[in-house]
Amino acid sequence: MRKFDFEKLNKKQEKNGLPLFANPRNIAAGSIRQLDPKITASRKLDCFVFEILTDLGQKTHQEVHKILKDLGFKTDPETKLAKNLEEVEAFHQYQEKKRNMAPFWYDGIVVVVNDVNLEKQAGVVGKSPRWMRAYKFQAEQATTKIKDIILQVGRTGTITPVAILEPVMVMGSKVSRATLHNEDEIKRLDARIGDTVIVQKSGDVIPDIVKVIKELRTGKEKKFKMPNKCPVCGGEIKREKGGVAWRCLNKNCFAKNYQKLVYFASKKCFDIEHLGPKIIEQLIQSGLIKDGADIFSLTAGDLEPLERFAEKSANNLAESIKNSKKIILPCLITALSIPGVGEETAQDIAKFLKKQGVKTIDDLIKKGPEISKEEWQNIPNIGPVVAMSLFSWFKDKENILFLKKLKENGVKIEEEKIPQGKLPFLGLTFIFTGEMKNLTRQEAKEKVRLLGGNVSESISRKTNYLVVGENPGEKLAQAKKLKIKTISEQEFFDLLT
Ligand SMILES: [Zn+2]
Repeated sequence: MRKFDFEKLNKKQEKNGLPLFANPRNIAAGSIRQLDPKITASRKLDCFVFEILTDLGQKTHQEVHKILKDLGFKTDPETKLAKNLEEVEAFHQYQEKKRNMAPFWYDGIVVVVNDVNLEKQAGVVGKSPRWMRAYKFQAEQATTKIKDIILQVGRTGTITPVAILEPVMVMGSKVSRATLHNEDEIKRLDARIGDTVIVQKSGDVIPDIVKVIKELRTGKEKKFKMPNKCPVCGGEIKREKGGVAWRCLNKNCFAKNYQKLVYFASKKCFDIEHLGPKIIEQLIQSGLIKDGADIFSLTAGDLEPLERFAEKSANNLAESIKNSKKIILPCLITALSIPGVGEETAQDIAKFLKKQGVKTIDDLIKKGPEISKEEWQNIPNIGPVVAMSLFSWFKDKENILFLKKLKENGVKIEEEKIPQGKLPFLGLTFIFTGEMKNLTRQEAKEKVRLLGGNVSESISRKTNYLVVGENPGEKLAQAKKLKIKTISEQEFFDLLT
């Protein structure tokens, strides 16, 4: 998308009181995913074509560009044949300098092997061809000091070292932590507590440390040593074979269980409203839940005795737990916290499982362990490591018992509903407060999603409508403060039709 079209579109959004887009990349990605081609067409997307899959006799990548151009496709006029890495470097620097003048935004160059035969030999790992590399421009950097290095234990037991920094501004936001990824990365950087470092943000939320400025060392810096036990539970830890990560092996590690449960209840997975990290911690500590399946056996009566739980909030939580028992297959797979399987991979796995006839949890219990490593690996975007991880997950009896427990506690896989036709709520965010007379909260949310809209839980400037039912909560006052449009249940129905 050209800068000009991007600015024009945002002006239009502003005029119509709609939320602004953050950058052309977001719009482009969002526009391609539209189900209504008219909306996609209205976004003025453009593209350069880079590759031919058919053999038209091309021997080099340069020829690919030429053939495409002769065929009438738009090709990138800014390409250059580099004879060595110095020339690649020079081209990179040249492009970085001139990028502000270009009619569209770009964040780097792509270096391609200029020999079709070598391309074939090099092959592809996962989604990335070995003969093609993105070479990005510098992201914004800042200099600060490492105050401490702490360890975080993730839901699959991965132990990640994190640097605690003296707060510093990077790309407009205050940064006080940077990931050090793993033990090898600390060694590679030779990062020590007390070191002055350069941090860089490159799209991710948590920035990276790119360099230690060793000239500024005073001699008081402390080397970091990886412990030989889990920093949270004291359990045995092990470095993955062939990998870089240390993992806590204790199945009952509090940190692992806690992170897993927070993830399990999150939007990507079971989407259980009112069940945030603090309540999960409380539920584990009081012994009410040990795993995700336990959540579904909780009743309002179990919750009420807990600290800070009034009758109303206990009822609300019990109600939303009940409403979350139906789940679509990709979300269920995401919720299982299988190492290496995130929400995107779960989509591919769900597609595959559906083709295998998996419709219920019973089907999954039966079919899952029968799938071979090779079959897992044949799923698009799944490499040998994730295939192995899936294979061993389904071979582990405890995991199968967990699936059984989910089923016994009332969890059911439901058919995915796909938004279709016109999507009048596209780009709009709704929030609900109070009780509705004719719909449950869950049904109302589903209606919004089916019309292409989003449902959020907390009021922000991005909220478009607050739907107000009976006995509304604090959200109503917040909405008024932020001048968010509020509508009644009836007005909400009018929007639906
Ligand atoms: Zn542990």
